Amino acid sequence: MSASTSVVKTRFAPSPTGYLHIGGARTALFSWAYARRHGGRFVLRIEDTDIARSTPDAVRAIFEGMRWLRLDPDEGPYFQTQRLWRYKEVIQQMLAAGTAYYCYMSKEELDALRAEQEARKEKPRYDGRWRPEPGKTLPTPPSGVQPVVRFKNPKTGKVGWQDLVKGWIEFDNAELDDFVIARADGTPTYNFCVVVDDWDMGITHVIRGDDHVNNTPRQINLLRALGAPVPAYGHLSMILGPDGAKLSKRHGAVSVMQYEEDGYLPEAVLNYLARLGWSHGDDEIFSMEQFVAWFDLDHITASAAQFNTEKLLWLNAHYLKQCDDERLAHEIRRRLAREGVIDTARPDAARIAALYKERVKTLNELADAAHPFYVPPHPSPELKAQHLTAEALAALNDLAQRLQCIEASEFSPEAVSAALKATLAARGLKMPQLAIPLRVVLLGQPQSPAIDRIVAVLGKEETLRRIETAGQ
Ligand code: GLU
Repeated sequence: MSASTSVVKTRFAPSPTGYLHIGGARTALFSWAYARRHGGRFVLRIEDTDIARSTPDAVRAIFEGMRWLRLDPDEGPYFQTQRLWRYKEVIQQMLAAGTAYYCYMSKEELDALRAEQEARKEKPRYDGRWRPEPGKTLPTPPSGVQPVVRFKNPKTGKVGWQDLVKGWIEFDNAELDDFVIARADGTPTYNFCVVVDDWDMGITHVIRGDDHVNNTPRQINLLRALGAPVPAYGHLSMILGPDGAKLSKRHGAVSVMQYEEDGYLPEAVLNYLARLGWSHGDDEIFSMEQFVAWFDLDHITASAAQFNTEKLLWLNAHYLKQCDDERLAHEIRRRLAREGVIDTARPDAARIAALYKERVKTLNELADAAHPFYVPPHPSPELKAQHLTAEALAALNDLAQRLQCIEASEFSPEAVSAALKATLAARGLKMPQLAIPLRVVLLGQPQSPAIDRIVAVLGKEETLRRIETAGQ
């Protein structure tokens, strides 16, 4: 860990209380990109001091989501629970320096104070009764009460910062009370740990959600009291659902890994997140290299960004088309395995991917399209009645005989096409009169990409087997 401030250092500091959600992923992406853009370092820090709410599963889910998005940290993961010794050390230093003090107020006293303030229609706040001041006599510490430690926040003046996203923000110190930095059991509190970590880790730019704006003045005052450098802060506006309400499960997937499960490519999700509140002219589609080269905090909108599933789907379709067939083949096999399709050795999934990738929007749609290539379909009785007429079955048998004559090694779309045309000519049929029944027999549906290519990919043996059983 280095306290050097010469290099840009950002961090993503999730609390492991759930999966990595879309908002968190965008914060991570922007922090990562900012560090990359400036040749800096990106730190991952797990803020797990809230033992009751933090879980190892959530830690794993965060790592998994970040790995999937390839947002690899240069440093960390650090765990706050492994740094408790350090927080205790700094608390002792602050007590010794007089920038923090013990407060012996009991819960009952605090409740009574709050009730009085509320009765007077005042904002509930600590009244500073244990705050040491020159010339002030403090009460005698009661026996048997474990004190909390409070930060001696400046009483007057203002604390402000030039927010990298929202512009100048300031608070009156009088609005901030002497908040607790260590509880009676000695455990440090949230704002305190963040400050010690940002200091120790040499964080220069804190990019985080704007739900933290109210913590920032407290953190800045703490940093100043410690004589630590104050990082720059940029608070990202929240992400709203398509209906304008705060993004939630109700709007569909909010966990990053749910998008993986739903058949999205990480590059589509990243590209989508990059545009969620940030822009580079009218550019919609760009790689992460391009994003890193362009990224700055000046083009982040201060207003909330609205989630748009249609646009994400559009980007996903774009990246699917660009995607390497072998990679798609791997995704097809993985997804079919999830559905219990074990044997995907043949036909070659990469050829299926090439056939369908222009037509689908998700990997799941691609896997669905590939399914009948591995598991013979069962067309519905309606489809059969409609398309597998006696005439169609006779034409299919005719076609089968012609396909039989093609050497397996020469079973190409061209050879199949020639057999199809010969059958049409012999039977006086038009292409749909043969191609549609053939699709129903081979894939269980009347539509598909070019039928000669479908037949070639399915292979001679399997095509003949399916035609043979068609009338049954
Ligand atoms: N742990 C905080 C959260 O998950 C973030 C703290 C920060 O970025 O300063 O919301």
